[in-house]
Amino acid sequence: MEKLPDHIAGALLPWYDKHVRDLPWRRDPSPYRVWVSEIMLQQTRIEAVKGYFDRFMAALPTVRDLAAADGETVLKLWEGLGYYSRARNLHKAAKVIMDRYGGELPADEKALRALPGIGDYTAGAVASIAFGLPAPAVDGNVLRICARLTCCPESIGEGRVKDGFREQLRAQYPAQRCGDFTSAIMELGETVCLPGTPDCEACPLQSLCRAYEAGTQTRYPVMPEKRPRKIQQRTVFILEHEGLAALIRRPDKGLLAGMWELPNMEGALTKEEALARAAAWGCEPINAAPCGEAVHIFTHLEWHMTGWRISCAAAPGRFTWTGPAQRAEQYPVPAAFRAYKVLL
Ligand code: SF4
Repeated sequence: MEKLPDHIAGALLPWYDKHVRDLPWRRDPSPYRVWVSEIMLQQTRIEAVKGYFDRFMAALPTVRDLAAADGETVLKLWEGLGYYSRARNLHKAAKVIMDRYGGELPADEKALRALPGIGDYTAGAVASIAFGLPAPAVDGNVLRICARLTCCPESIGEGRVKDGFREQLRAQYPAQRCGDFTSAIMELGETVCLPGTPDCEACPLQSLCRAYEAGTQTRYPVMPEKRPRKIQQRTVFILEHEGLAALIRRPDKGLLAGMWELPNMEGALTKEEALARAAAWGCEPINAAPCGEAVHIFTHLEWHMTGWRISCAAAPGRFTWTGPAQRAEQYPVPAAFRAYKVLL
């Protein structure tokens, strides 16, 4: 295992003190706020998270409020952020925190790790930032920095590489500034040691960095091989009846669990096939018009969608028929359907 240079904190913290960004969750780093922000920030850009975070905190300011909310309210607050299992797990974990810890997040990395939706990264982030414990939070940004500092030849997808860097970082945590050390490494990865073009001239770790010394920064990190995404053709139906549009709730398990969606099915249906399907659902279709194609990319899957807008003489009970206000306020509809939402 490649060895990290010593004294990372000593070089990084003075830089962090000068460059720390004012982010909503940093203003009051309570355990609840740190936890929610870290879950939101997984796979999502900081700029996109800010508005969601403020809205979430205004609606559900405490663990108790989150635990008491209904699932649909939580999903609605998450609508558009994607990776909805994060919201469902956040909700589940809040209930566990109420039952087991009286509404206070536990100040212990292992106990945090045992909560739904909290992995090594989030447990480390909450333990260090909110509780001041020496607990590293190692995500893709931190791995990229470690791989460059050491010219690590192994893939950062390997568990032993991640575990190795985590434990080496743990040994370097400065007792009085654990949270700042976690935030400082994250900040460096987000603003300086960027994936394509690291700004090495502005980097406080330059003198410790083997890749910089060798001029090989962009060769690292070695990435795991990507599995090709499966492509699935789907037909999306905008079924309209007297100013209302049909939505249907997805099953409680699997992709986009519990979200509300436009009726859709696998395959690229022709106009005649789409009308026949709407008739089979009992919608008594009057006419159909194409309403465009759209692609939505999930982690391992791409939906290539064709839309049909169909006016209907009947509104069968298999669907929930909704007006614009209800859809805006009540029903969480995933971003996959954003291309068609403007038509609703
Ligand atoms: S010197 Fe460059 S490659 Fe090395 S850690 Fe700093 S930004 Fe990253």
